Amino acid sequence: MTRLTLTPSDVNAIYCVGRNYAAHAAELGNPVSKSPLIFTKSRTCIVPFSGDLSIPASLGRCDHELEIAVRIGAALSEADPETCLAAISHVGLALDLTLREAQSTLKAKGHPWDLAKSFTGACPLSELQPVAGFDLNDLDLTLTINGTVRQSGHCRQMLFPIGTLLSFLSHRLPLVPGDLFLTGTPAGVGPLEDGDALVGQLCGAEVTRAVVRR
Ligand code: ZN
Repeated sequence: MTRLTLTPSDVNAIYCVGRNYAAHAAELGNPVSKSPLIFTKSRTCIVPFSGDLSIPASLGRCDHELEIAVRIGAALSEADPETCLAAISHVGLALDLTLREAQSTLKAKGHPWDLAKSFTGACPLSELQPVAGFDLNDLDLTLTINGTVRQSGHCRQMLFPIGTLLSFLSHRLPLVPGDLFLTGTPAGVGPLEDGDALVGQLCGAEVTRAVVRR
């Protein structure tokens, strides 16, 4: 298998999980969920996680959430965690960009978060690497901004491991090749400013480098 640079038309759906690292749930004052908190992002929000990341200032505060992204390579329906892990074809990094002020307003009203999670450019996605080079139980990720480590985590810190997440979802709807799953963000989220230089590392290797334009 080769590396993939996915465009929106290459992707079926983008599923995400909120509050999957306890320290991140705590930093936003949210309780830890008893079952996975699943939401989606529109695939039309995928942009390359490289070069300039354009985020209109008119959207208000936009937070970085660095996440491990996995691509599903085989159909999954009511599958157990081991089967789900075996169905992953590629691994990479994504930013689950979040309009935090908009999200807080929507949450206060009891409304869906969609407009805080899906907007033009809301899902910078790195090149994806074949899963064969990775141990899905031993993945770590780091986001450095302007030379300072701002987010760092390991998949062992996830409240719901990747296989468990996919199994949970596959018992509720069919997963198909081309689906992406963003597996949650570690603590350290914060607002992005014009000129911020971002470097994302997966398992110690730099996989993406970008600059914010707002
Ligand atoms: Zn997220």
